[in-house]
Amino acid sequence: LVGSQIVDKKVDSVCPFCGVGCLLTYKVKDNIIVGVDGRDGPANHSRLCVKGRYGFDYASSPQRLTRPLIRKAGVGKNPEDLINLNRDTADWSAVFREASWEEALALTGTTLAGLRDTHGKKTLAGFGSAKGSNEEAYLFQKLVRTGFGSNNVDHCTRLCHASSVAALLEGVGSGAVSNQVNDVEHAEMIFVIGSNPTGNHPVAATWMKNAAKRGAKIVLADPRVTDLGKHAWRALQFKADTDVAMLNALIHTIIDEGLADVDFIAKRASNYEALRENVKAYSPEAMAPICGIPAQTLREVAREFAKAKGAMVLWGMGISQHVHGTDNARCLIALVTVTGQIGKPGSGLHPLRGQNNVQGASDAGLIPMMFPNYQRVDNKSAHQWFEKFWDTKLDEKPGYTVVEIMHKILAPDSDPHKIRGMYIMGENPAMSDPDLNHARHALVSLEHLVVQDIFMTETAWLADVVLPATAWPEKTGTVSNTDRMLQMGHQAVLPPGGAKPDLWIIQQLAQRMGLNWHYAGANEGVAAVYEEMRQAMHGVIAGISWERLERESSVTYPCMSADDPGQPTVFIDRFDTLDGRVNLVPADIIPADERPDQDFPFVLITGRQLEHWHTGSMTRRASVLDAIEPIATASLCGADMATFGLETGDVITITSRRGEVAIHVRRDDGTPQGAVFMPFAYYEAAANLMTNSALDPYGKIPEFKYCAVSLRRGGQA
Ligand code: SF4
Repeated sequence: LVGSQIVDKKVDSVCPFCGVGCLLTYKVKDNIIVGVDGRDGPANHSRLCVKGRYGFDYASSPQRLTRPLIRKAGVGKNPEDLINLNRDTADWSAVFREASWEEALALTGTTLAGLRDTHGKKTLAGFGSAKGSNEEAYLFQKLVRTGFGSNNVDHCTRLCHASSVAALLEGVGSGAVSNQVNDVEHAEMIFVIGSNPTGNHPVAATWMKNAAKRGAKIVLADPRVTDLGKHAWRALQFKADTDVAMLNALIHTIIDEGLADVDFIAKRASNYEALRENVKAYSPEAMAPICGIPAQTLREVAREFAKAKGAMVLWGMGISQHVHGTDNARCLIALVTVTGQIGKPGSGLHPLRGQNNVQGASDAGLIPMMFPNYQRVDNKSAHQWFEKFWDTKLDEKPGYTVVEIMHKILAPDSDPHKIRGMYIMGENPAMSDPDLNHARHALVSLEHLVVQDIFMTETAWLADVVLPATAWPEKTGTVSNTDRMLQMGHQAVLPPGGAKPDLWIIQQLAQRMGLNWHYAGANEGVAAVYEEMRQAMHGVIAGISWERLERESSVTYPCMSADDPGQPTVFIDRFDTLDGRVNLVPADIIPADERPDQDFPFVLITGRQLEHWHTGSMTRRASVLDAIEPIATASLCGADMATFGLETGDVITITSRRGEVAIHVRRDDGTPQGAVFMPFAYYEAAANLMTNSALDPYGKIPEFKYCAVSLRRGGQA
């Protein structure tokens, strides 16, 4: 029963929001989801947060796209249109006309193939989605590699944990977590840095809070003190941008005070001497004025970390979204290595993955330098293997990443790598990219842009062709969560009107690009696509058949045989590097690309909030979530509010060198003095108009967590 309604059916699936991957059951009445129950999954034990429990009615929103759309002849594209565009009331019929599937697919297929054949294989690019299934991600990257002809394929991992993955692949040989979140049960120390788990991974945070209740010590290290701070043994509110200084000071202390696990280092690490030499200059006493944490506190935390029977490190985008994001993660790898806090239960590394399937989409090869299962495209044997597997010639050069693609669109005509056509599935770079004015200018400069989505997103507004796709509850497929759990969701409701499954659309487009693709079977051949992907990823999911997933719902990988229960803790005997040892990489302080100055004296920090998800295209159309948080709001501490004479609810205007936004303000004393925090979910106050597109040189991730802004009271919010 839902209220007084008797539901028609209950269908098991997975939450479509964050990377925790809570299993749930949709309750369906008259082809509409009317309620959600938590299921007893390994990541959630029936728990759900407010998004998972109440964020379901976006799927039945009257704003869903239901027909293919083609831009009307003579209607130009203007990035300025987005500045005052109201998602809820915008009338797209002045811009687009409805079309049949045949006409829309033929137009897009012919145009993209024409660009490829005229300008060469580097001329096209694709953004896939971390919100789709593994099968969609696999097929999307295969289409770009084999149909478009280059490795110009990427997705939002580039905007969240690309630098973490770069450091992990270099250091331990695997881009995934070493231990699952619920392993904090076995830890004496839980070191959370650059993450707001109660807001962003709420069910994961419940494991941490439970562990604290039984006596584990939580250290929350973050320039913003968030809710988990209430449960923390120590909250280290370090100065933004000083991660390397603070983490090197911890490593220095551990080595200096004889707390390093020398046996573990001798047996399992390389390059320790270089690390030891490097951190000599980073004593807590020298770093305290830089990072703002007293030296004695740094020493105390370092001692507890080293002596703990188990210590887990969990981190979020406060670590990764910096020009020194890879260096930040290198320090975390060094911290667990010098203390031997990895390779056993309750000890290890856990980058908390953001979107529900960002782990799986990356695993499936939706990244420009890697084939499925992180096989480098420029590795000769991997390249040969995939050429044989897909029976085609493949580009052996890594493709461009998300922000690089925007630059390549604006390259001069003479550039042989200029990008002229794009296929974007389920991503919204006109809201999610840094320096939006630049990104939007790039998107309107494309000769052809096709967008596949469930709503008229800001990116779709700039498209030539819009293809109406299916929401997660309308499809059957697999996703992989932050814990390396491969999980299955089943179709609960039918898509509205003429909207089509993403897997069908990809295959149709592939056929029109000259590929002879026909995946047979129910749900657009999803099981057949999965089995092909399983062969491409035989090194990690060989033991997980489609039938096993149907039976078990969730299986942890690596899983190498049908009777393998999966490996929740990895690196027990060896790391995944070539020599089996951790490769320690020393890191030095590199300042943010844009520091505050006289003209722009504040720091802008962007991020998520509990009720809303990324660019808000789903959660802001979920009635309960929108009712709880309907208005874009920036956070300032009480001292800065007083300086500007502000009360909660007043309006401020935030300006950077790239853009300006007027927004309501609320008091949050967890926000550090001299900084302003903004969620990026609100189109009417788009935080990324102001952010900086400077990149970490290894992960190519933009510096969303730090840029210089000025504030003034007032404005038109
Ligand atoms: Fe969904 Fe994440 Fe909330 Fe779980 S914690 S219900 S996966 S949003």
